[in-house]
Amino acid sequence: MSSFVWCHGPSCHTSHTQDRIRGVKGSKVLRTKKVQERTWTRNSFYAYFCSNGCYNAFANKHIQEIVAIAPRTEALETPIDVVREQTTDWRGNPYMETKILTVDS
Ligand SMILES: [Zn+2]
Repeated sequence: MSSFVWCHGPSCHTSHTQDRIRGVKGSKVLRTKKVQERTWTRNSFYAYFCSNGCYNAFANKHIQEIVAIAPRTEALETPIDVVREQTTDWRGNPYMETKILTVDS
């Protein structure tokens, strides 16, 4: 027996696709899609949304609550070194390349 959740997209049930049509002639509806539980969707938004569009619609609708979960009040920084190295392109012509190297702290 497979388990599923209903897609959390706020307007999933309004998309005009064949796989959302349910009911008999005269009383048909567009229904929210089921999202099957799969190994590769565990711990990702694909476990709760049928598409990127539904995920984006949910995130846009609830953005204030989402940001309140982990507010960012200051910028984060990653220590780096910037080095210039001479290398060659696919024709063997030399050119200078800028590399950003992460510094272990
Ligand atoms: Zn959906």
